[in-house]
Amino acid sequence: MTASTTAAPQAPAPRQRRLQTEIPGPLSRELQQRRTGAVAAGVSSVLPVYVTSASGGLLTDADGNVLIDFGSGIAVTNVGHSAPAVVDRVRKQACWFTHTCFMVTPYEGYVEVCEALAELTPGDHAKKSVLFNSGAEAVENAVKIARVATGRQAVVVFDHAYHGRTNLTMGMTAKSVPYKHGFGPFAPEIYRVPGSYPFRDGLSGPEAAALAIDRVEKQIGGDQVAAVVLEPIQGEGGFIEPARGFLPAIAAWCRENGVVYVADEVQTGFCRTGSWFASTDEDVVPDLIATAKGIAGGLPLSAVTGRAELLDAVPPGGLGGTYGGNPIACAAALGSIETMKTEDLAASAKRIEGVVLPRLRALADETGVIGDVRGRGAMLAAEFVHAGTSEPDADLTKRVAAACHRAGVVVLTCGTYGNVVRLLPPLSLADDLLDEGLSVLEHAVRTEARA
Ligand SMILES: *Cc1c(COP(=O)(O)O)cnc(C)c1O
Repeated sequence: MTASTTAAPQAPAPRQRRLQTEIPGPLSRELQQRRTGAVAAGVSSVLPVYVTSASGGLLTDADGNVLIDFGSGIAVTNVGHSAPAVVDRVRKQACWFTHTCFMVTPYEGYVEVCEALAELTPGDHAKKSVLFNSGAEAVENAVKIARVATGRQAVVVFDHAYHGRTNLTMGMTAKSVPYKHGFGPFAPEIYRVPGSYPFRDGLSGPEAAALAIDRVEKQIGGDQVAAVVLEPIQGEGGFIEPARGFLPAIAAWCRENGVVYVADEVQTGFCRTGSWFASTDEDVVPDLIATAKGIAGGLPLSAVTGRAELLDAVPPGGLGGTYGGNPIACAAALGSIETMKTEDLAASAKRIEGVVLPRLRALADETGVIGDVRGRGAMLAAEFVHAGTSEPDADLTKRVAAACHRAGVVVLTCGTYGNVVRLLPPLSLADDLLDEGLSVLEHAVRTEARA
């Protein structure tokens, strides 16, 4: 029997973490061996347990181990891995039709998703949307739209930014290894300026914004800038929450200078931070907003939503793609949005914050190896340092993550310095599993900090 046939799709869903073998177990290791012969080395996996089913914030692997998921497939399965409303709509849509191409013969689901995006995104102005498949594609298209709408070319991005892996978005992403290294040349007219990183720059939001704006005005010229693109909370760069006042100051400058303010809410969107979109927390209304990840309960879908006049600046045919707004992905998005509304997952995210932040802070005080605890909703992080300094400790971070993995809790790391453990549980995660996963993390930090 091979590992891939061991899954029993109708078996009752597990309710608890359960370790039957070491992690990864023998069947996962066998699959990993097979993978080595067939899958490119350039795509790597954080934790090579091979998943056979997932629900309720638990992943079941080929060896029958059940792991607590604090990663949500990188902030994607906000509604869970198999939310009934998503599964139901996907199943029906797959029976009706899988694809026609919206650019050939359209269908209602695409329109319905765009209507929902107009309703849910910040601001009450007239909005339109266009759909794609990935976050990177959405960010690229936001830049295309901003350039056509303004007739300008320069794009401003920030230190520690992550915007994707396509050529344009690699250029916009800050970190070289592994995202950019060797992949150049990158697209021109991308300019990087300092952002706001309160733990490391010690600046207030308005001070950090003034520095960034001064750099833009001196080195580029406000009238040359098509768009400023930023993550309201930086994701891969380290879950960096800008100091209060930073985002509103940048948005105000954009307004005064005819620059399109693009919020990359690919990771922060769809209730992740306790609001539908993180921009709202400081009353920032982006001109364009790029969304993906949490939008469709695991199916590939992304969007650019924003001011109708900007979206309509590109003539017919200028935007699109074969699969953009695929009908099954749209059905999943509608099921996912419905779930977020009926289960009030924004409130669930806030509840998770209320449980996790105090425990991480207590852990920081106790161990001395966590320099900063931050985040909002269910997008939370601990930044690891050498005790008594602010010097990043990437090695400890790696060991803590590995210890969690061995104990059956999937945590992810991030950060320019590789020293941040980030927590992104599904918003619907049950309290007892959240508590148990945190206990595992606490134990890992205590043990590894002494090692
Ligand atoms: C993940 C991510 C992207 C890229 O999304 P893909 O779907 O992987 O292309 C872009 N921006 C942010 C903020 C992200 O977190």
